[in-house]
Amino acid sequence: MKRKGGTIEAFLKKQLRDEEESETAENVQERTENVEGTENVEGRSQSDTEVQSGREEEVEREAERRHSSTNDSNVIGYPSDISKSRAEAPVQPQLSVFPKTLQGDRMRSFKKDWYHKHPWLEYSASKDSAFCYACRHFSLPGQSESTFKSNAGFKNWKKSTYSDGGFAAHSRSEHHKDAMLAWREFQLAEKIRPQLQGSWTKNTIKQ
Ligand SMILES: [Zn+2]
Repeated sequence: MKRKGGTIEAFLKKQLRDEEESETAENVQERTENVEGTENVEGRSQSDTEVQSGREEEVEREAERRHSSTNDSNVIGYPSDISKSRAEAPVQPQLSVFPKTLQGDRMRSFKKDWYHKHPWLEYSASKDSAFCYACRHFSLPGQSESTFKSNAGFKNWKKSTYSDGGFAAHSRSEHHKDAMLAWREFQLAEKIRPQLQGSWTKNTIKQ
């Protein structure tokens, strides 16, 4: 149990703090040591503690990613199955069937053909909604918000291909154009630094 000691101790300290706020730190330490020797802590099995440990590693990786990004908002609150930083390519899953929902007079769904026309499109299968990769990762701070940049994303498939709404209207917006420009510049900068080639350049978008 020793190798998991740090994790269990941290977890228990928090829990004990919550339960008995008046208890002194010394007592907490004592109780923590007692519990550490037992196999099962309040119903938590070994596998539970491993999960806990895994989560901590994930939090650390997340912190690194945020550190390397210029904009924290491109990670927080978004579904986990779309890109988390500009180091990742746009996530464009090729599902054989996209979920259908009743919108207006009929059932509608996301269409994978839309990726070709709009390389900035990302699709979250878990949320069945679309996002703008460029606006999420390359918007300047303080730029106006758009549905394509919101945590919920865009899922009005009926309006998606309207000439005065959906994808077309988003593509014409100034903040989107600025973000696309910044994305393009980022790609070019990555290309002229071959020694730093990584996952990004392998997935460079075609425009
Ligand atoms: Zn955009």
